[in-house]
Amino acid sequence: TQDLERKAKKIIGKLIDAGFEAYMVGGCVRDKHLKRPVKDFDIATSAKPEQVQQLFHRTIPTGLQHGTVSVMMEDSLFEVTTFRIESGYEDFRRPTEVQFIDSLYEDLRRRDFTMNAMALDVDGQLIDPFHGVDDMKNNLLRCVGDANERFQEDALRMLRCIRFAAHYGLEIEEQTWAALLKQAPLLEHIAMERVRMELERMIDGAAPAHAVQLLIDSQLLGHLKQTLRLADLKQVKLTRGWSSLKEPLYKWAYLYLCIRVSAAEAELELRQLTFSKQQLEQVRQIIAVAHHLRRQLTDETDEAALQEAWKLSAVTYGQQAVGGLHEIVTAAPEVLARFEVEAKWSEILINNGLDWLKDMPVHRLEDLELGGKELLAHISKPAGPWVSRVLAHLLREAAMQRLTNERDLLLAEAERYYEKVLQQE
Ligand code: ATP
Ligand code: MG
Repeated sequence: TQDLERKAKKIIGKLIDAGFEAYMVGGCVRDKHLKRPVKDFDIATSAKPEQVQQLFHRTIPTGLQHGTVSVMMEDSLFEVTTFRIESGYEDFRRPTEVQFIDSLYEDLRRRDFTMNAMALDVDGQLIDPFHGVDDMKNNLLRCVGDANERFQEDALRMLRCIRFAAHYGLEIEEQTWAALLKQAPLLEHIAMERVRMELERMIDGAAPAHAVQLLIDSQLLGHLKQTLRLADLKQVKLTRGWSSLKEPLYKWAYLYLCIRVSAAEAELELRQLTFSKQQLEQVRQIIAVAHHLRRQLTDETDEAALQEAWKLSAVTYGQQAVGGLHEIVTAAPEVLARFEVEAKWSEILINNGLDWLKDMPVHRLEDLELGGKELLAHISKPAGPWVSRVLAHLLREAAMQRLTNERDLLLAEAERYYEKVLQQE
């Protein structure tokens, strides 16, 4: 970070030598002040984008219409943005016009929160016209200027508000909070993709449980473009254990487990939120495992039956999904209660689940000593859905150690299963 800061100062120095104003602005000033790790050093300047491009050898026109030029300094990239104000906010999202200006003050004034509206000059002097430092000292997150106006200009700021409050452990200042509650319906204008990016940053941030609590208290999720079942979290009692999960997707899976949707519903909703296919698959499978356990467990369940259900879900939904659920239940043991899994079974799963998975001689079709081609050659019937059904049966039997994973034994069982079961249907 110190090296990055040195390079950023070098850029600022060069701009000043050329007769422009230049400052560090935004998140880096805030994080430096809080002695938190700085992600990136952003620079604001009175120089126009073309002037920035002329002054530095290596630049990338990242967002010229917004005044942003990326400058390469000793192999690090910095965003240098011309002082600007924004106007013509349409539909409560993103400005349609930006206007380049000469005043740092006006540039800071357009920003969302006081702690994000500070600048540092080349001598390390803090410029803090909206008293962000005082607010941070008092643990307050406050909009710059009139909070209602700020949220009306860009409704996404309400989600940013919750993200910053949670991540930095701040109280949301009274008028900012009142405005947020009042303007919440404007969120319907925000694209789900932008919503998802903010939610992901909350869930990946330092205090996801706090963020979710604020989402519940503010009911922001009830006002999105598309209705989300996640808004049902307000009826759920969450415990804190899940915050410690390392894998962000496991946290998402946890939240969906809490509201007890079906695997298909969770998948649909994550798709509406524009998660990638791979991400929504992973969550869907974890939830499917929980439902599988719920269906398998009966009054007669004993530890052997539990083990069987667990292993069966591993071959059906994949090791990764079962391992994921194991991690989630370990962090938040109460979650399976929502699937009618008694606490004692959860505890047994936590203690033994991973060993049971390790015990399995086969986990996937690829592990079987018999493939589809060989099976077809042996049974010599036209290919059809029966092939994958027979293989699935073999995998199940081998995984449960009721059948040895040897080619001849697998073939014999395949034949029996095909004749007895499939032919009779
Ligand atoms: P992070 O550490 O999460 O990146 P950040 O403060 O750097 O936090 P960015 O989204 O990278 O946040 O934005 C950089 C700066 O631009 C902010 O500090 C803020 O001053 C300003 N900003 C960003 N988005 C908005 C917005 N929607 N409305 C007003 N100002 C904004
Ligand atoms: Mg940033």
